[in-house]
Amino acid sequence: SSRPNSLSLMSKCEDDLFSGEYSKHYTSIQQIGKGAYGYVNMAFRNTDRLLVVTKFILKEKLCSQFMIKNHDCKEMPIEIHLLQTLKHKNIVAVLDVFENELFYQLVMEKHGSGMDLWTFIERRPLMDEKLGSYIFRQIADAVYHLHKNKILHRDIKDENIIIDHKFNIKLIDFGSATFMEEGKYFSTFYGTTEYCSPEVLAGNKYAGPELEMWSLGVTLYVLMFFENPFIDVEETLKAEVQIPNMVSEPFSVLLSSMLHKDPKFRCTMDQLINHSWITQEVNPSLFNFSWIVPCKPHEANPETYFSGHLYSSTSVLSTISPQESFSQIEDCSIADC
Ligand code: ADP
Ligand code: MG
Ligand code: MG
Repeated sequence: SSRPNSLSLMSKCEDDLFSGEYSKHYTSIQQIGKGAYGYVNMAFRNTDRLLVVTKFILKEKLCSQFMIKNHDCKEMPIEIHLLQTLKHKNIVAVLDVFENELFYQLVMEKHGSGMDLWTFIERRPLMDEKLGSYIFRQIADAVYHLHKNKILHRDIKDENIIIDHKFNIKLIDFGSATFMEEGKYFSTFYGTTEYCSPEVLAGNKYAGPELEMWSLGVTLYVLMFFENPFIDVEETLKAEVQIPNMVSEPFSVLLSSMLHKDPKFRCTMDQLINHSWITQEVNPSLFNFSWIVPCKPHEANPETYFSGHLYSSTSVLSTISPQESFSQIEDCSIADC
């Protein structure tokens, strides 16, 4: 007899997503993502209608290198352990964790409207270097914090970064993360090949920070130019980066050093954090989200639409259930702005 493949296994599991303690506290509204790992849903907290994002992680898919024993010797995914432990303004916060027979249910804060940087970039924002610096320095801060705590994210890319209407960002998806140790080298890459460094694609072992710096370089390139710096593995291996358009000297120097072919000469995290392009003065209040990027009203102004306070107060909105309110918002098009 053959084991069910992952898709048929997934559909069998779908019925079990919400079962257990989770559904006593949260009500899912809509699926916002689905992958090999499980599902991501928008949901609300029953007590106050606070909107949250729940990631359902299929236990079946978790192999031992992604698990860790916590203080009471209970096994749990590193992803959940890390997100529960890390407290940083640019790392998504966890509100609750539940589990049932098949899934871990990871309840996270919903940051802004929940737009990821991939969506942001796809909408062709009016980027300039000051805005790019402001967005990117927050990503760098999050990763700096991780490295200081001997943690590697290993899947830094636009899809794993959430941006709100004030251009505040949060890093998500610690599903590939691991711990660094002195003298320990990794041989398997778990992230996305477009963001993988040439030496790791070539099969070399890696310590971690130098690989992460490359992924950050690719992310910065994509954020500023809306395309990948290298179109395929072959180009990545050559690592000849073309920096388009008229950009400032500091920016071009920084980007080239983040994407330096030789990891020994690549920019380090300390150099990045202190680089003049990263530390330049920026006044974020000069940037207006709906002017920079075409967006729906709730994306430009999420607190007006999605707030636990609005729903639980005696205001007009309190008569609308979150499900109804959500479908109204989904109906409005970009043209409504
Ligand atoms: P995977 O490990 O399958 O990539 P992610 O954790 O990256 O799963 O979640 C998939 C997608 O769901 C993300 O790219 C993002 O668009 C959305 N998402 C996940 N967590 C959140 C969150 N806390 N807030 C908003 N959107 C989220
Ligand atoms: Mg992801
Ligand atoms: Mg992941």
